[in-house]
Amino acid sequence: MGTYVEDDVSAKTKMSPYVEDFMAELKAKNPAEPEFHQAVFEVAESVSIVLDRHPEYRAARILERMVEPERTIIFRVPWVDDRGEVRVNRGFRIEMNSAIGPYKGGLRLHPSVNLGILKFLAFEQVFKNSLTTLPMGGGKGGSDFDPKGKSNNEIMRFCHAFMSELFRHIGPDTDVPAGDIGVGGREIGYLFGMYKKLRNEFTGVLTGKGLNWGGSLVRPEATGYGSVYFAAEMLSTRNQTLQGKTCLVSGSGNVAQYTVEKILQLGGKVVTLSDSNGYIYDEQGIDQKKLAFIMDLKNVRRGRIAEYADKFKGAVFTPTKAGMDFNPLWDHKADCAFPSATQNEINAKDAANLLKNGVFVVSEGSNMPTTIGGVSLFLEKGILYGPGKAANAGGVATSGLEMSQNSQRLSWSREEVDQKLHGIMKRIHATCVEMSARFGTPGNYVNGANIGGFLKVADAMMDQGVV
Ligand code: NDP
Repeated sequence: MGTYVEDDVSAKTKMSPYVEDFMAELKAKNPAEPEFHQAVFEVAESVSIVLDRHPEYRAARILERMVEPERTIIFRVPWVDDRGEVRVNRGFRIEMNSAIGPYKGGLRLHPSVNLGILKFLAFEQVFKNSLTTLPMGGGKGGSDFDPKGKSNNEIMRFCHAFMSELFRHIGPDTDVPAGDIGVGGREIGYLFGMYKKLRNEFTGVLTGKGLNWGGSLVRPEATGYGSVYFAAEMLSTRNQTLQGKTCLVSGSGNVAQYTVEKILQLGGKVVTLSDSNGYIYDEQGIDQKKLAFIMDLKNVRRGRIAEYADKFKGAVFTPTKAGMDFNPLWDHKADCAFPSATQNEINAKDAANLLKNGVFVVSEGSNMPTTIGGVSLFLEKGILYGPGKAANAGGVATSGLEMSQNSQRLSWSREEVDQKLHGIMKRIHATCVEMSARFGTPGNYVNGANIGGFLKVADAMMDQGVV
């Protein structure tokens, strides 16, 4: 998978002088954080249109304040593995912006985690949470701990050690973490258990909890379902539906699994899934029975996607390696693409392959899966391109619904939560459409999402003064 490439930007985009100066200062102040530069650049480009019309935001240095985390917490996480050896990881929590509510955003456990990656994710989260219309600020955290190959006891010891520091900094009205890559229901359970013990209180301090201890129905499904609802909304602007559409999905974790489930419910056909070792292509389509196999493989047996091709005749597994300059998963005939693995998984070459193969809908389940060069190509061709901060906001939106249920000590039914999620995704889509048109770029969901997310936070910051 690629990272942010300078050439990607300069070759495709002519920056305005304001954005050029702003980015130069950001890079000087935050060196060696390419993903953070990439995420900020995309927002700055969109928001510069707003700043031209509203110089009061520029005078109040709103964007300059938004790129500076309100607080960055970095801590040591020592734990003992099954052989009795001491291990040391690094833990992080970035509390980015609390103008419209308590910090909210996931925890990622993956060896690639570093400060720059978490700052990009926390920055994106601020805009995403604003778009949901719920009162949530933005944050993100995690560790460079690698859960792969670890026993259940090792996962528990690590999560307990991680929370034995994090508990000081979070709380139901301060900062409410959730899951992300490497953090699912099991990890949230261990984290919650240690928080409860240390604080001696049972509160909704984490979301993604188990159903019988404060969790919400539909939270596990929400990001994937939301991304497909968003794609359906985009398709409806061209009087089309997902019925009969061929879809490429990457990843095979939480977001990918429920993306497949919802596509199947809406009559689409899914032909790919992946993990970090490679991808499977199943020309006949991944049906509900095959999806059940994947859920067991990934969530219970914690195996590799290659096993799918051993199990189902006709499916082909193709290995992929880090450092390849394109991903063959994106080089198949299809109508829609749902990247649902990780950042920068679609570069300019992959974007060109998708377009060549007929893809005209891209709904981003993962965060910032497309490089700047790839995004430029999608926008240039005018396809239905839903950026992650809009398309995958269903997860955090349902976390917001979990918080509401916790504070009212109520549990809503599956239908009730799903209906609210669907309504929120429709409203996010409508905001993107409205904002992109209001600021002179109709149909550009990138500008629509960035501007829609920015305005609410910017106005709250203006109201609250220089803090
Ligand atoms: P999971 O850990 O459940 O699954 C991640 C999947 O992506 C796995 O198949 C994993 O393969 C693959 N993957 C991760 N990193 C890489 C990499 N560097 N190269 C190749 N494949 C990789 O995570 P989620 O499904 O929760 O998250 C997926 C994406 O969705 C992330 O970008 C996340 O930030 C985003 N997201 C998640 C939300 C949520 O509610 N969970 C909400 C909004 C966005 P392997 O097992 O081999 O590592």
